[in-house]
Amino acid sequence: MGSITLKNVTKSFGPVDVIRPINLEIEDGEFVVFVGPSGCGKSTLLRLIAGLEDVTSGAIEIDGRDATAIPPAKRGLAMVFQSYALYPHMSVRKNIAFPLKMAGIDPAEREKKVLAAAETLNLTDYLDRRPGQLSGGQRQRVAIGRSIVREPAAFLFDEPLSNLDAALRGNMRLEISELHQTLKTTMVYVTHDQVEAMTMADKIVVLQAGRIEQVGSPMELYRNPANRFVAGFIGSPT
Ligand code: ADP
Ligand code: MG
Repeated sequence: MGSITLKNVTKSFGPVDVIRPINLEIEDGEFVVFVGPSGCGKSTLLRLIAGLEDVTSGAIEIDGRDATAIPPAKRGLAMVFQSYALYPHMSVRKNIAFPLKMAGIDPAEREKKVLAAAETLNLTDYLDRRPGQLSGGQRQRVAIGRSIVREPAAFLFDEPLSNLDAALRGNMRLEISELHQTLKTTMVYVTHDQVEAMTMADKIVVLQAGRIEQVGSPMELYRNPANRFVAGFIGSPT
């Protein structure tokens, strides 16, 4: 569970074509990074997958099912935003449990899932704190915890580390990679940071102006960049 297929997907805002026809296969369990300069359409592409925007044309399939008709909440995908969007007045425990409460899960089951998520994310000692009493990295982990408890088919990250300082960013990069190894869930990760792309991805999708310039493993892109744009962006020797 967790394969995502884009077939000739386009998105226009009024007269502006933001996503040109895109074809892409994301396999179950893969860590896929969308990378490219600001404004190239990364967030829009992620929002199309999440169902937060409707495609202008083309189709998106999740586990072989046409997702176009499936509302965002039913797609089984968890979007992790760069802004933490935690409830400041609620404890970490309540923040993580919130989506389960909304889904009508009973308190005992909620607590079980919260404890499991906290364990995975090293948050066990912080469950009674409020977001304001946590570091940026811990808050980011709480945000991820809120997604984990829903056991999504895939996680969608939109520049989740861009608010963190350089040292923390390095730590969180490792933590998210470890999380992927633990959960083995599909992750689609948007960034404009080449280092994040090269170190985290199984597969990198390089975007420019709404088009895919190249898809491949970090090593493939580094060794055989399709063009100068990719070479420049990835930092290959030319
Ligand atoms: P990225 O995440 O790669 O920085 P975005 O997907 O946010 O890029 O944006 C791609 C392009 O689409 C930009 O030119 C942006 O201004 C435009 N765009 C994004 N969302 C909207 C919207 N809701 N209405 C109009 N234009 C938009
Ligand atoms: Mg963006």
